[in-house]
Amino acid sequence: MYDYLIVGAGLYGAVFAHEAKKAGKSVLVIDKRPNIAGNVYTEKVEGINVHKYGAHIFHTNNKKVWNYITQFAEFNRFTNSPVANYHGELYSLPFNMYTFNKMWGVVTPEEAAAKIEEQRKTAGITEPKNLEEQAISLVGTDIYEKLIKGYTEKQWGRPCTELPSFIIKRLPVRLTFDNNYFNALYQGIPVGGYTKMVANLLDGIEVRLNEDYLAKKAEYDAMADKVIYTGAIDAYFGYKLGTLEYRSVRFENETLDKPNFQGNAAVNYTDVETPWTRIIEHKWFEFGKDEEGNDLPKTVISREYSSEWKPGDEPYYPVNDEKNGQLYAQYKELAEKELKVIFGGRLGEYKYYDMDAVIASALDMCEKELA
Ligand SMILES: Cc1cc2nc3c(=O)[nH]c(=O)nc-3n(C[C@H](O)[C@H](O)[C@H](O)COP(=O)(O)OP(=O)(O)OC[C@H]3O[C@@H](n4cnc5c(N)ncnc54)[C@H](O)[C@@H]3O)c2cc1C
Repeated sequence: MYDYLIVGAGLYGAVFAHEAKKAGKSVLVIDKRPNIAGNVYTEKVEGINVHKYGAHIFHTNNKKVWNYITQFAEFNRFTNSPVANYHGELYSLPFNMYTFNKMWGVVTPEEAAAKIEEQRKTAGITEPKNLEEQAISLVGTDIYEKLIKGYTEKQWGRPCTELPSFIIKRLPVRLTFDNNYFNALYQGIPVGGYTKMVANLLDGIEVRLNEDYLAKKAEYDAMADKVIYTGAIDAYFGYKLGTLEYRSVRFENETLDKPNFQGNAAVNYTDVETPWTRIIEHKWFEFGKDEEGNDLPKTVISREYSSEWKPGDEPYYPVNDEKNGQLYAQYKELAEKELKVIFGGRLGEYKYYDMDAVIASALDMCEKELA
């Protein structure tokens, strides 16, 4: 018998497991995948930590979370500064003075602000009826056409004129030379990869991989007083009320026999003709070096394609619309009746959580549960 059975060796499960063990509880962690770390899993290919389930950049303003997670990994000084590629023209992101200088040749913040204002006025949109009009009314035509339209249409799989305006409430425009995508106090990538960080969290804890809890639920339930379940909430209930929907991403990975493909971790393809939304070159998350500081001779890239999700696909982004929100609320009601089970994490709560938020959420649960 264990005090806790933890279903899922992702961040939520690993933080809970670590804290439970620290509190003197006996814990067993299982995961249906052949590896720990859930979606933050990194796999070594040619000495490079490849982010298998999508690029992950740790960023937070939460000092408690930062102090907590840095016990398990040293973080490098990686700063997310994506580049946009529009038919071979390169622009800095997020929109800032480098972007505006390249787009219009303007040099001062006043000139950039005046140019944006002039384009907004010319467009003459007062009540935006769709995403296209909303974006133009916020930043003008050039930025919309070159940097927003194609990318957004690929992401959502339909024209911006058919997307609701509320998707874009604000478009941050920086009148400074600041390419740092996140406005976070703390940012970086764990040295040695996320898998190593999660392994440190799970140090000394029994972990069984390739084990699907739902396939042997009764057997597993009998093994522990309580279950922390971080799998999909609808799957737990056998989809009996219906299936919660997700947006999916497809990754096409390629190892190249050259040291440098694009010179940056992330390049967004903002034209509509290029079928992928972005290319990640994983080695640049760690400055092209291995842990000993040696240059890596090869490189691994991932082309990302936005795709419709169908049941059975890897779930990525929950769809926060009314239909899915209502269905989740019904599942949540059922979950509250499962007194032995705590539902947590991005799948258990059907919620998009950044890594820092999922750690904070797991720590909150530990405070309640392990007090
Ligand atoms: C494409 C993408 C990019 C992202 N980029 C960032 C980023 O740059 N920065 C950031 O802060 N956050 C990012 N995130 C968010 C981050 O991935 C999540 O915060 C984090 O993975 C959530 O951890 P979790 O433990 O809740 O879920 P997961 O990591 O999904 O862990 C759940 C685990 O449960 C296991 N499981 C499920 N069902 C069962 C079962 N029946 N039996 C056994 N095991 C089961 C799964 O195999 C999985 O390992 C990104 C998310 C996505 C989708």
